[in-house]
Amino acid sequence: MGRLLILILLIVLAAWLVRRALRRAAPQADVPSAQKSDELVRCAQCGVLPPRAEARLSAGAIYCSEEHARLGPGPR
Ligand SMILES: [Zn+2]
Repeated sequence: MGRLLILILLIVLAAWLVRRALRRAAPQADVPSAQKSDELVRCAQCGVLPPRAEARLSAGAIYCSEEHARLGPGPR
């Protein structure tokens, strides 16, 4: 009886460890491919919304193109 109890405890522990490992791995695999490239950011110069993958980052502000990054933040 004692051996069966230990076996059940080991199975529960293994299932818990596997579930925890899967839960930890899933967000890391999802974020870079799905969310990051689709996320829209606002250009500080003209207000256009390019995907994050195409945006330029300059002096802490986001721009739609290299040219607008050079011009700096717009009047708004
Ligand atoms: Zn722009």
